[in-house]
Amino acid sequence: MSEITKEQVLETLKSVKAPGGDVDIVSSGMVSEIVIAGNNVMFALQVDPDQAAAFEPVRQAAEEAVSAMPGVEKVMVALTAEKKEGGETGRGKRAPQPTQAQAPGIPGVSHIIAVASGKGGVGKSTTAINLALGLAAKGLKVGILDADIYGPSLPKLLGLHQEPEPDPENPEKLKALEAYGLKAMSIGFVVDEATPVIWRGPMVMSALQQMMHEISWGDLDVMVVDMPPGTGDAQLTMAQQVPLSGAVIVSTPQDLALIDARKGLNMFKRVNVPILGIVENMSYFICPNCEERHEIFGHGGARQEAEKMGVPFLGEVPLDPDLRARSDAGKPVVATDADSPHAAVYRQMADNIWEALHTGETGKRSMPRIVVE
Ligand code: ADP
Repeated sequence: MSEITKEQVLETLKSVKAPGGDVDIVSSGMVSEIVIAGNNVMFALQVDPDQAAAFEPVRQAAEEAVSAMPGVEKVMVALTAEKKEGGETGRGKRAPQPTQAQAPGIPGVSHIIAVASGKGGVGKSTTAINLALGLAAKGLKVGILDADIYGPSLPKLLGLHQEPEPDPENPEKLKALEAYGLKAMSIGFVVDEATPVIWRGPMVMSALQQMMHEISWGDLDVMVVDMPPGTGDAQLTMAQQVPLSGAVIVSTPQDLALIDARKGLNMFKRVNVPILGIVENMSYFICPNCEERHEIFGHGGARQEAEKMGVPFLGEVPLDPDLRARSDAGKPVVATDADSPHAAVYRQMADNIWEALHTGETGKRSMPRIVVE
């Protein structure tokens, strides 16, 4: 089969008119970079945020036009508002303050919580999946959305490698996949893992918006969002544009990781997302031979940091070879070794998170410290 090219997509999009009907969307310069991954085409239409509603039919028309191209299987088109000159967001000239009230929720989803980290490799995804499973173990309906589109790890963590199918009850949407009782969606289910995708800023948001709003998630008590690591613009935009009930920060106890964790905390505070707590991962190591406890990275740093910042400390997870092996084999510990002490730690943290979501006692206000020993 011949490959789809960006030029072909642009040519097709010239048939789609901008509102008013005079110019087409390509000539009006609103089409972003086009990402083609195998048979999937993704791009965004950059619009003035005040006109987003008027552009929705245009978005749909663009999606339909490209879907009809030979060889195209899936199309993701999103409306985005680009940053304007001077670093202001398209939302107006006032300070880029909380947009939480404006971010549209997902119908049927009660809470969306972010699991974030100041840098990669600290175990954010492992924590996200096990916290999601801990929430599900309480009998809650839980979904997990892999927003780490630069390095999606959900397919591996859940051992899921199939593509989502159209939802028979709502054929315009794809059905979230399911594993271990969790609903799950990751760009890794759609994009061929062997094909590196180069994402540009606006694309990240559009992919995320699509995964939130154009997937049948069903009714969920909680959606856990595994955020991309770091505190750059992409993360900040997400923290602003996803209607988050709160955020969990994962850190190792090392000083350097803690500096990054602090940046993560500040990022969420800046956009008024309550901090549900900090998790210290790879906190200590119990040697399987001598059974001695080794505090490789200087355990306890995250707890102290949480105290300093006045946010809850959720608990500590040891560095554990079995936990790693299970994670990397798509068999997360809370689902596959429920009686282990590690699973109990994650369940306890999930309990605390659920409680904080309900009492509204989150990091913004002076909150009683929740400590898990
Ligand atoms: P991140 O999302 O922060 O990049 P991951 O969750 O992908 O991190 O974890 C990075 C690696 O560390 C993975 O191989 C994972 O299995 C391993 N890992 C995470 N937490 C632990 C832990 N507590 N003990 C041992 N290995 C862990």
